Amino acid sequence: MAFSSVAGQPLAKRLLENAVRRGTKGRAYLFAGPRGTGKMTAARELAKAVLCLAPEPGDRPCGQCADCRKMERGQHPGFVVVEPDGEAIKIDQIRSLQARFHYRPASAGAEPVGVYVIRQAERMTAQAANSLLKFLEEPATPVVAVLIAENASALLPTIRSRVQRVPFVPAPPSELERLLLERGVAEELARPAARLAAGIDAAFELASSAWFGETLKTVLGWAERAVAGVAEALVDVFKYCSKWTEDQWEVAFELFALWCLDLACVAVGGRTPVFCEKRERMAALASRREPAHWATCAEEAVRARRRLRQHVQPQAEMERLLILLHG
Ligand SMILES: [Zn+2]
Repeated sequence: MAFSSVAGQPLAKRLLENAVRRGTKGRAYLFAGPRGTGKMTAARELAKAVLCLAPEPGDRPCGQCADCRKMERGQHPGFVVVEPDGEAIKIDQIRSLQARFHYRPASAGAEPVGVYVIRQAERMTAQAANSLLKFLEEPATPVVAVLIAENASALLPTIRSRVQRVPFVPAPPSELERLLLERGVAEELARPAARLAAGIDAAFELASSAWFGETLKTVLGWAERAVAGVAEALVDVFKYCSKWTEDQWEVAFELFALWCLDLACVAVGGRTPVFCEKRERMAALASRREPAHWATCAEEAVRARRRLRQHVQPQAEMERLLILLHG
């Protein structure tokens, strides 16, 4: 089956298999869904299926023809990926995309000559988006367009109405955890990573990053110390403010929220804690405050994580949370 390298996503795969069967010539698709749910993998698979000269039954790319081999090497001239240049995708990028496909001969009935992918399509400038719209409306050659977006509602409505939406949905944490364990990720990292990420690609990237384990240990260390006495934890936070990246701080606040929710659940006997290898210590900690206190701290951690996007100081936010946690 084509698209077998995309984990999960049965609906997206069915839609794409049908699309390949019916013909993708001149069509445009919008792969919409959270980060790490396999959108780019699916785009590559679609390109392989479209560009293969001798597809096998079930529209599987043959893996042998010249086009399949070029795709495997990442050197197919008809497969173009456009990504933000800095903050945004600019009009020049869309223009060079148009120029690249415009002058190819397009004989009636010919197979598609190219597939282009626009990653983070919601980051096109207004001019770039309008330029793309014209390209979508007047396909000079039978190219296949794939727009990829996490926040599809940020795209121009006129673009949204031109593309077929293929939804990519978050995978259940239990499924992600199982896949991470299969890939050899340690259990104490697999469990929280499966809750923080929406898809296997993002979860695996997070769990196998060098800083994830360190961040986990550090943040939970602060939180535990803050319950006993807040001063020592505050001194420690200061040391990390310049060392950690924005992504790392975001993950730190998410882990903090998970840990507080764990304590609330342990206190009232809810779901199995995410950090269950510390179950006894968690039970002792949980009994030191009311369950509502832990729930409030979790909520505040989620709000603090959102505020990071508005360029607040992560150190100040974390200190505020630790003081709140101490109560
Ligand atoms: Zn082939």
